[in-house]
Amino acid sequence: MSDKNYLNWPFLEPRHRLLEQELDNWATQHIAQEHAHDVDAACRALVAQLGQAGWLAHAIAGTRHGGGADVIDTRALCLIRETLARHAGLADFAFAMQGLGSGAISLFGSDANRETYLPRVARGEAIAAFALSEPQAGSDVAAMQCAAVQDGDSYVLNGEKTWISNGGIADFYVVFARTGEAPGARGISAFIVEAGAPGFEIAERINVIAPHPLARLTFNNCRIPAAQRLGEAGQGFKVAMATLDVFRTSVAAAALGFARRALDEALAHARQRKMFGQTLADFQLTQAKLAQMATGIDAAALLTYRAAWQRDQGQNVTKEAAMAKLTATETAQQVIDAAVQMFGGLGVVSEHPVERLYREIRSLRIYEGASEVQQLIIAREMLRA
Ligand SMILES: Cc1cc2nc3c(=O)[nH]c(=O)nc-3n(C[C@H](O)[C@H](O)[C@H](O)COP(=O)(O)OP(=O)(O)OC[C@H]3O[C@@H](n4cnc5c(N)ncnc54)[C@H](O)[C@@H]3O)c2cc1C
Repeated sequence: MSDKNYLNWPFLEPRHRLLEQELDNWATQHIAQEHAHDVDAACRALVAQLGQAGWLAHAIAGTRHGGGADVIDTRALCLIRETLARHAGLADFAFAMQGLGSGAISLFGSDANRETYLPRVARGEAIAAFALSEPQAGSDVAAMQCAAVQDGDSYVLNGEKTWISNGGIADFYVVFARTGEAPGARGISAFIVEAGAPGFEIAERINVIAPHPLARLTFNNCRIPAAQRLGEAGQGFKVAMATLDVFRTSVAAAALGFARRALDEALAHARQRKMFGQTLADFQLTQAKLAQMATGIDAAALLTYRAAWQRDQGQNVTKEAAMAKLTATETAQQVIDAAVQMFGGLGVVSEHPVERLYREIRSLRIYEGASEVQQLIIAREMLRA
């Protein structure tokens, strides 16, 4: 059982401790860690389950629309992701994508947009996706080529997006496209595109190391009502960055959940594995490894809940969220690798808990800004000061 002392840190309030306890109990009863054979069906089922149980209310903003609060409670978001990740990577993914996919609507949607989409997202009745990346524009978002041209009361969208989580199962996508008000990042707008929009297609499904729905999307003269634009024309980059600013800290929290699970598994194994007349845990080499794992997790958790708390105080967290994501994802990778090593051959057997974690953690160091991008963000914020 994980050490839960961190729940008593001053960053958290009594309601957060209660939330974690209730979710942990619920997840123990309702979700399992196995990688699903039919990942689309499993993901749909998890979204419905998380919605019915009320957890998705924390992924959106606006009590009027079924949200848990009027502003997203970052600490609640982080605790939910950490707890779900500890139980099952796909459950964390299903929760996180409802938030990331609808985040731009929570933050920038018109009343009509919010009323149309957010209640269904919160109930788990509509699946959301966030479509920013393109084959030639990943880390370098401003290089995006997908374009939207205004034509009367609508925009006509042409181009492609790739690596889109929930691609293929989402009911709607928040899509970023070049609208040309200015060069580079200042000429982008954000739109809500319904899955059935004519001219919109799932061009390719992509299989990744830890299975979850992922796709490349194409837009061929796809017409979208102008009322589906989120925020001002040309402000799409700001919309994307503001959304990522909320959810980046929660990626750190998911990494923490994976790392805590790996440490639990490693501790239990080290205590009972007999070798050379004692247990694996009796060796000082093992103890040093366990100490390093636990210390890394606490350091990452401090940065994560500091960033979440700071955001909940209404402060800017660009640097703090980047520090949290960088540290938590890199630390989790090391912790999980150490756990695999302690399990010996068992650690690399398909679907062993630590083998699953080894696959789950890898892409967190790449998406929502690779570790190198986080380093640049931190340095940029320092040099600006
Ligand atoms: C599993 C998964 C799910 C994803 N889900 C989504 C999604 O839902 N929506 C979405 O829009 N996108 C999504 N992405 C895309 C993700 O955000 C991009 O993969 C990421 O931004 C990196 O872009 P890229 O793959 O084009 O790599 P590149 O931009 O080509 O970068 C390759 C590598 O170069 C290095 N690098 C980058 N910048 C620098 C630099 N300045 N200096 C030195 N090194 C650098 C980093 O190590 C980086 O990993 C997902 C990706 C994955 C793997």
